[in-house]
Amino acid sequence: MEPLVDGHGRRISDLRVSVTDRCNFRCQYCMPADGLPWLERSEVLSFEEIERVVRLMVGMGIEDVRLTGGEPLVRRDFPRLVSMLSPIEGLKDLSLTTNGYLLERDAAALVGAGISRVNVSIDSLQRDRFFQITRRDSLPQVLRGLEELAKHPEVHPIKVNAVAMRNFTEEEAIPFAEFARSTAFQVRFIEFMPLDADQNWTPDSVLTGEELRQIINSAYPIEELPREPSATARVFRFADGTGEIGFINPVSEPFCADCNRVRITAEGKLRTCLFSLHETDLREPLRSGASEAELEKIIRDAVWRKELKHHVGEPGFRQPPRTMSAIGG
Ligand code: SAM
Ligand code: SF4
Repeated sequence: MEPLVDGHGRRISDLRVSVTDRCNFRCQYCMPADGLPWLERSEVLSFEEIERVVRLMVGMGIEDVRLTGGEPLVRRDFPRLVSMLSPIEGLKDLSLTTNGYLLERDAAALVGAGISRVNVSIDSLQRDRFFQITRRDSLPQVLRGLEELAKHPEVHPIKVNAVAMRNFTEEEAIPFAEFARSTAFQVRFIEFMPLDADQNWTPDSVLTGEELRQIINSAYPIEELPREPSATARVFRFADGTGEIGFINPVSEPFCADCNRVRITAEGKLRTCLFSLHETDLREPLRSGASEAELEKIIRDAVWRKELKHHVGEPGFRQPPRTMSAIGG
């Protein structure tokens, strides 16, 4: 089959699939305190529908699939979906992004089902500050989940991702650097993006990767490693050889020119950019008997129209109506 390309010549090989819009946390930068009106069960793609789309898109050149949400582990029987997707021929990497709350329960089942890499989102290593961000007093539970997962060497690497927010993450930089140096977990900071339900984002609320790099470098000198093609993170190693740390800087250093990613929301909308104002419905064709060739054409046409770049921070930027939790970050 022809590779999947957009109208700007970028080859698309990375797909993020949101399996639910629901979540058991209420992170300040993502959801409102009271949650959001959830999708009805019938509105959400079934595992069989997800499998069909993923299989088709792997045939079109998708190599990496990341399962996300909402919180993927709150979806009932989620490891079964992993076991349906992991054998798909041509799929090189099947990964998961989770808040970790249910990992203690699910780690073994996920590994058995064939997950290859896991990112766990943790914004603070201090219990009270973790509570302040997530509105849940769950840091010990999440750390237990992380430890449970680490018992399975098949899952590698395990990354810990922290959102970088001004007046919050400055204090987290050194503890996370020390965590990265003293454990096998790979730590990544990701700049806060305007996808929060409360619409509190301002350009100034982003703590840039460069600012964090300087804080860390002053305590533990770091040196940049060569960047892999299409990698979103700039990765540094500690100069004394103990561990590494990364920065994902979508706001201060956009990597749109190298973007190889598209997303499918829990209700089956194909989104070609995190900040898309337009999306393409796959659920209706899936449920009304579209053939593989028809679905393929819908996907190729939508991907062809993928946005050149995001316009975050530029005059006239419009925040998409969906929050990160409803897109699938
Ligand atoms: N619930 C899972 C979790 O938190 O890992 C998966 C979904 S969550 C939407 C995916 C990632 O998006 C998390 O790492 C989260 O920290 C990040 N995220 C959410 N809102 C964000 C925002 N406004 N800016 C940057 N990252 C954000
Ligand atoms: Fe839930 Fe993840 Fe959003 Fe936090 S970032 S509210 S854990 S979906």
